[in-house]
Amino acid sequence: AKDTGKSRCVVYSPEKFNQPEHDLSLEAAMFEAIRNGEFLLHYQPVINAQTREIVGFEALMRWMHPELGLVSPMQFIPMAENNGLINLLGAWALKSACAQTKYFCEAAGRPLHISVNVSPRQFRNEQFLDIVDDAIALSGLDSKLLVLEITEGILMSDPEHAEGLLHKISSRGVQIAIDDFGTGYSSLAYLKKFPITSLKIDRAFIKDLPSSVKDDAICNVILSLAKHLNLSTVAEGVESEEQFEFLARHNCDLIQGYYSGRPQRPEEALALLKPAAVA
Ligand code: C2E
Ligand code: CA
Ligand code: CA
Ligand code: CA
Repeated sequence: AKDTGKSRCVVYSPEKFNQPEHDLSLEAAMFEAIRNGEFLLHYQPVINAQTREIVGFEALMRWMHPELGLVSPMQFIPMAENNGLINLLGAWALKSACAQTKYFCEAAGRPLHISVNVSPRQFRNEQFLDIVDDAIALSGLDSKLLVLEITEGILMSDPEHAEGLLHKISSRGVQIAIDDFGTGYSSLAYLKKFPITSLKIDRAFIKDLPSSVKDDAICNVILSLAKHLNLSTVAEGVESEEQFEFLARHNCDLIQGYYSGRPQRPEEALALLKPAAVA
């Protein structure tokens, strides 16, 4: 019965088969994948730009499909957002990331923060605050170590709801980062209105550094804006020493990207935290 759905889908809507949001076979498989525990989290190191020490991780979801192998979140997150499964997956990701990070902190003997992505539909869900509270309570993680990453779009689509919810979240001590900063429709007014703790500079502005004069200017403006508003800054998608050095020199606080570490399995992430054994 499993594969009839799969072949039927190709027959019914072949022209839509390559559009992830209409990929019915993949969508049907998602429900079963949740039951089978095929979703997992990878952890990408976040580095202090000055000391180059790991100060935390971003949790990034992966789907290990038994036949297709690793399915990208770019493919399944939009689908889960459409069919509502993101609420289930997102709650699992929050609880799992907090519990894993509590363990990382104990193993490393120092605090490490964890960033978890929140989609628009999760943010609108009435139970979201309870889910955040549960994730903290069940894991025993210090709430100050949890960072929720939201996009500008989430804030702009319903500013009143966002303002109320963000104040409740920040009253728990949880941090709030604006992901992909500078790429969405936004108004700088929200930076004043909402209790935001950090800005993540999108990879789009990082990838042509340091040679692009325009990206140089954009990054400097974002970093200076953040400093004046007392927000911490994270650069994402940093792939080279030149980019790292540029950002460190311009006082970006934290660096994330393939240059300092790919998203990886929890046991690999843990190994990065332990001092190398003396041979
Ligand atoms: P994002 O939140 O902007 O995450 C950053 C993406 O950039 C990740 O892609 C990461 O693997 C990738 N990346 C990190 N460093 C580099 C680099 O140096 N170069 C390049 N080219 N890419 C880099 P990934 O893991 O494929 O995730 C894609 C998107 O899926 C995320 O973008 C996020 O929007 C969404 N996503 C992932 N996990 C979750 C989740 O648990 N919940 C929700 N709601 N969305 C998630
Ligand atoms: Ca993110
Ligand atoms: Ca991002
Ligand atoms: Ca992005």
